Order: sequence, then C-alpha cells, then structure tokens
Amino acid sequence: MSIPILGIDLGTTNSAVGVVDSGFPILLADAAGKRLTPSVVHYLDGGGITVGEAAARSKVTAPDRVISSIKRKMGEGNHPEEVSAEILKHLKGIAEAALEQEVSQAVITVPAYFNDGQRNATKRAGELAGLEVVRILNEPTAAALAYGLDKLEDKSTVAVYDLGGGTFDISILELHDGVFRVLATQGDTSLGGDDFDIALAEFIWREGGDGSAFSSLEPSVMATVLGAAEILKKELSEKAEATVRLPFVLPGHHLEVDVTREDFDRVIRPILQRTVSPCRRALADSGVALEKLDAVIVVGGSTRSPGVRALVAEIFEQEVDTGQHPDEAIALGAVIQAGIIEGSLRNMVLLDVTPLSLGIETFGGLMNVIIPRNTTIPAKAGEMFTNAVPNQEAMLVRVLQGEREIANDNWELGKVELSFTPGPKASARVGVQFRIDENGILEVLARDTATNEDTILEIQSAAVDVDDEAVETMISESVEHAFTDMAQRQWVEDEQHAQELLAALTPSLEILGDEIEPDYLERICSAEAAVKAALEGNEHLRLKEAAKMLEAETEQLAVMLVEKMSGIS
Ligand code: AMP
Repeated sequence: MSIPILGIDLGTTNSAVGVVDSGFPILLADAAGKRLTPSVVHYLDGGGITVGEAAARSKVTAPDRVISSIKRKMGEGNHPEEVSAEILKHLKGIAEAALEQEVSQAVITVPAYFNDGQRNATKRAGELAGLEVVRILNEPTAAALAYGLDKLEDKSTVAVYDLGGGTFDISILELHDGVFRVLATQGDTSLGGDDFDIALAEFIWREGGDGSAFSSLEPSVMATVLGAAEILKKELSEKAEATVRLPFVLPGHHLEVDVTREDFDRVIRPILQRTVSPCRRALADSGVALEKLDAVIVVGGSTRSPGVRALVAEIFEQEVDTGQHPDEAIALGAVIQAGIIEGSLRNMVLLDVTPLSLGIETFGGLMNVIIPRNTTIPAKAGEMFTNAVPNQEAMLVRVLQGEREIANDNWELGKVELSFTPGPKASARVGVQFRIDENGILEVLARDTATNEDTILEIQSAAVDVDDEAVETMISESVEHAFTDMAQRQWVEDEQHAQELLAALTPSLEILGDEIEPDYLERICSAEAAVKAALEGNEHLRLKEAAKMLEAETEQLAVMLVEKMSGIS
C-alpha cells in the first residue's frame, strides 16, 4: 500500500486528522477513541509536552503553562508555529498509530482570509512537525468539498457559514462541471465560540459572582468560570435551561446561576450580529440572488447552538443544512483534497477569487480596473492604451490593487516602463494584459503592437493573498469616499476633455486665419477664455458649461476646416 497523504483540520479550538481508506474519506481516532483533539498544548514543568485532552484538563491547574487558541496568533513570529507544530506532531502520531505506518505528507486547512504570512507559518508548522504540506486549503472550500461529493447537483450554489472557536468565514461557492468555484468570501479572523464563552462567563459572574469585576479575577478563577461557561453553552444547545454550579469558586463564595437559552441568545447577540454584514456583502459580491442559493451549509462547532442556526436561516431566508457533522466537515474536506492529490479520489480543481480589484493608472492619475474584485482565478483580461501626447516615447505602467478611483489611493504592486515608437498623439497602440494563474501569480504583459515587443512583469501572489483586515479597510474606505472619489474622477475626465478641446483649437484657428468672421472669432475666444478660467479656478460646474459652449461654438469651425481641407486636396 502506498503512503497516504493526511488531511488535517488545524482548528483554533479542535483539530482532526484523516485519510482516504479504500476510496472513503475517514477521520482517525486516538487511543481513547476520540476523533477531535483539543488544539491545546501543555508545556510541563519538567520539560515534557502534552497535547489535546490531557493538556486541556490542565488549563485550570496550570493556566500559564497551557496554550490554547494559538491559531489566532499564527503569523506573529516563531512561537505560534512551534506550538502549532506540537499539535500537528500529535495528529501525525494519532494517524501513524491508527495506520500502523509512517506518514510524511499532509493537506492542512486555514481560514479563507489567512494572508500569505499566516499560510506560510502554517506550512512551516507542518514542516517542524515532520510533514511536507502539499496543499493549504481554505476551510469553507474544504467544507463544501465534504458536502459536495454526495449531495450537490451540478451548477449548484451554496453558502458555507463557518463559525468555529476563533474564526468566522462566509463563502459563496459554485459547483460546476465538477469544479468548485469560490464566488466570494468574507470573514473575521477573530470571531467565534471563544467570544461566546467570554460573554457568557461575564454574564454568569455578574449574576452569581461576589460583586467583583470578572476582569479582575485571578487567571485560574477566570479559567474555571470560562470552562464552566463553555460547558453551559454546550448544554444550552441541547436543552432550554441549565444551571452552572461552582462551589468555592472564591474562598467562601459559591456560585450557582440558572441560565436559559434566551439568556444565552441575548448575551451572544451582539457578537453573533457581527456575522450578518459579511454574509450580506459576500452575497452581493457573488452576484447570486438569495433565492438562487441551493443550500446553506453550517460548519464549525459554534453552529451547534440553535440561536446561531436561527440567525443563519434568517440571513439566507432558508432552512440550514445540518446534514454534516459541524466539527468534522472541514477535516473530511481536507482528507478529500488529499485523496484527490494522491489520485485515490476523482479529480476536482478548486478555484479562488481576487479579493480586490486590479488595474493600472491612466492619464490624470485615475485607477483603471482591468480585473474587478471577486473575479474567479485563473483569469485573463486586457485593454488597449495609447500615447496621450505627441512623440511620447515611454509610458509608465503602474500596477494597482484596490477599490479607489484615484490611483494613488490604491496600493502599487509593481511598475514597468514601456517604450513605444514615437508618433502623433494617439498613434501608439499598447495592449496591457493581466493574467492570474491558478496559484495566484499575476503576470502583466504589455505589448507595443507596432513592434510586437512584449514587456512582462511578474507579481507574486500579492494579487490574491491579501490580509482580510486590509481588504475590509480598503472596501470600507472606498464606500466612505465614494462621493468625493467620483467627483474627483469626473473632474479629471472633464479637465482632460477641456484640455483636448483647447489643444485642438489653436491649429484650427491658424489654418482658417481670416476666413473666420470677427464676430464669430470673438465668440470662440470668449468661450476659450471661459474654459481656461474655469480650469484655473478648479471650478467643475463652470468648466462643464464653458466646455459645452466651446464645443458648440467650434462645431462650425470643424465644418469649415473639413471644407477647406477637401478644397485643398
Ligand atoms: P471548532 O473550532 O469548529 O472546533 O469549534 C469549536 C467551538 O465550538 C468552540 O467554541 C466550542 O465551544 C463550540 N462548540 C462545540 N460544541 C458545541 C455545542 N454543542 N454547542 C455550542 N457550541 C459548541
């Protein structure tokens, strides 16, 4: 038997590992028969390390030696990588014990919004654990993959709402010809069930504590209350009311509080509400109408709470699919992807989208979008450009990323100087083409069509891998400045149009000379002066009117010019 590739869900709260066994994706259980391993590492006093359930149990007794939710810190230096490596080593051990053979390769999932640095950190954690990471897979895509194999019809669109312990992702995917396309994705890398636990713990402490502030408690007491809150939360997924009891939580103080599901729903409401607008935005970005969604899948342990499911159903106006094991779907998806790579499952290709628009700067410092945001990759698009001034010898192509109208408000990914054959204004023809391959590498090709000379600029995965916070900031700023940005763009466009009118006027007047009636000449000159004054004064409305007038006045001039030219020839 060949060596299988592991599929691993390296979760904030829990992790899981599996393989394809005789054509079926399965998760592997540890010696205790558990398929979920808490993502918790305990650095023992004596120098040893325990991982999983045992480490999670030590949270209360040795809170400062036990590390959990390390995934939230991924990409922030070596430490999170090393801690994650311990979890991965443990998972590798579970797999090797279950399979009775050594393994060396894995597919590991990450939140869709992990940036390049966070993805690389995850890869390095795998390597530290002795695993070659053959693919980093987006979690919602993994969930859809787990779901899609047995249930989806071709051309289906699904929403994957993933609320785990520490991250939230919403993705809209389309299955077409056996290929999953990520149409749009949004998320929040620090939102999840851990936040419910904190909010619930604070609530419990307010109701049944000794009057002190929750935030002022000793770490070990805090951990006790937090642990109790999580247990209570899980109970409230099953029943309408539950009681939390912590005798001697403080010397001489017993805590006992009855909590209803309504209490819990109210406590988590503000946190849960933060998932609404990413859902709406992802839907809008995907261009899929609500009623066209074939399924809404919920994954992540936190979607076991009825209140969470109710909200998801409300947002998407349809029943939520609960066919999947919310904690295992992502790991199963990773296993399926591993099976595809090793060739033991039928082939499916997974596609990503561009998180922000890509374009180049054009005349007047404006952003010219070539590939709009949320375009499925691989993608290819291009446009033709020309020289703005006569005998221009070169043009600077600045490759930009962002949603703002003004070039300088976007991010510059690279630039290339393009030379072309000098000639009259607008005689050059330069084709600029953007191509993004399936790995997210952007290649900008600029071709002078006169010489067929190509200039190629390659931009690494920056076009696709963007930090989610940066994407959010960029989008919210573009909304915030939409009005002024648009006004600025129109001003630049009108200004250019006016400059063109002025530039064309002088030669026409010279050619026609005395043939122009003095009265008419005076009207033209005063229109010209009005345009110039408006340009100088930066007065947009006046410029528009003046340019319109100048255009109307010069119409007859154009006719005279054509007559004269044809008379000459
Ligand atoms: P995940 O990161 O997908 O493993 O999800 C872990 C999160 O799910 C943690 O915050 C858990 O407390 C939460 N969770 C697990 N089981 C339940 C349950 N039965 N009800 C509510 N939340 C749960």
